Amino acid sequence: MNEHDSERMKGMLSGLGYAEVAERAEADLILFNTCSIRESADSRFIAHLGEAKRLKSEDPERIVGVGGCWAQSVKDEVFGRFPFVDVAFGPGQIHKLAEFLTSDSLTAQGYFEFEDFAGHLPAQRERPFQAWLQISQGCNCVCSYCIVPSTRGREQSRPSHELIAEVEALAADGVREVTLLGQNVNSYGRDLAGRGFERCTFAELLRAVDAIVGIDRIRYTSPHPKDMKEDVLAAHAECESVCEHIHLPLQSGASRILKAMRRTYDRDRYMARVAMIREHVPDAAITTDIIVGFPGETEEDFAETLEVVEEVGYDSAFTFIFSPRRGTAAAEMDGMVPHPVKVERMERLVEVVQRRARARAERFVGRPLEVLVEGPSRTDPTRLRGRSRHNK
Ligand code: SAH
Ligand code: SF4
Repeated sequence: MNEHDSERMKGMLSGLGYAEVAERAEADLILFNTCSIRESADSRFIAHLGEAKRLKSEDPERIVGVGGCWAQSVKDEVFGRFPFVDVAFGPGQIHKLAEFLTSDSLTAQGYFEFEDFAGHLPAQRERPFQAWLQISQGCNCVCSYCIVPSTRGREQSRPSHELIAEVEALAADGVREVTLLGQNVNSYGRDLAGRGFERCTFAELLRAVDAIVGIDRIRYTSPHPKDMKEDVLAAHAECESVCEHIHLPLQSGASRILKAMRRTYDRDRYMARVAMIREHVPDAAITTDIIVGFPGETEEDFAETLEVVEEVGYDSAFTFIFSPRRGTAAAEMDGMVPHPVKVERMERLVEVVQRRARARAERFVGRPLEVLVEGPSRTDPTRLRGRSRHNK
């Protein structure tokens, strides 16, 4: 989501006549798009901001801008703590940056309202044949560890006709693969009728995008296990362009911890969803997100996470150490797990994830796969890198 926000910022800036320079020191606008999902993102960013401060003192005409979730989460203090920042805006206010840059007086400005999605901003895509499509913004879940609902606001689906038109335009522009984006993609559409738009469910949206000529691959991230229903999987199985990959965030394998996380499913319900996926889309790669060291997580709870990972056999997993975020319920909970315990659990988790993923990957040996080539390999420029439909 953040990367796509950056693409939209770049698209907007190039519309205003800005171009990228190789070195920060050569820029007359230094713009950061920030993430705040975990503490490590914040701390890395503060170091970058320090460098911007120095560059600004060398050339006071230079503009320093900060957008994204970090900016949103410190909105009341950003100009007090960082007086050299000229403009700050939340993830829902990207379009305000243009207003600021074209205004007469460049005095410190902050834009933090939650508004309708600014769909008119053209994205400057990284690759001509791949595109993100943001289908909704915000999140109505209340996961106790997560800062996103406070930085991105309530969930709002974009009307389906607007999305279809956008994909048609992308296809005409040469896009072959589109990734539908949202914090909870499969709850898409529930708010549309109430806002006076035509009804459309996530499953229907998948079918509508699949019908667009020129789009060969559809991906989406992230669905929520609670909303992974039969209609979505039927669309998944029947639509030729929908890729055989489902990201199904687990977070924890222990029902007790899932409850404290307010994920609204337990271990059994999650496993039932996995069984349903295997039934409808047997060959699908299943990937996940897991947090270790949530407050109160015991060795027994963690062992349950390992069991689920063994049982499901994920094709890959993003694993995170719990990071207390300002303003979230989990940050105030008792039973903080000591850092060395978190690290040790993480190591054990990664071992199981990798062992199971390797075993799962065996099914591809000797099998021809369709690959969309993305460019030279990062590690060896004489080779090419690309992705199979399973996201390998
Ligand atoms: N909306 C998506 C993803 C949101 S953030 C979803 O619900 O699946 C991506 C991942 O970051 C989450 O799935 C979670 O595993 C991780 N994450 C979020 N907040 C975190 C925190 N405070 N500490 C550690 N990991 C976190
Ligand atoms: Fe955060 Fe939960 Fe919403 Fe995902 S579903 S963005 S983890 S609150």
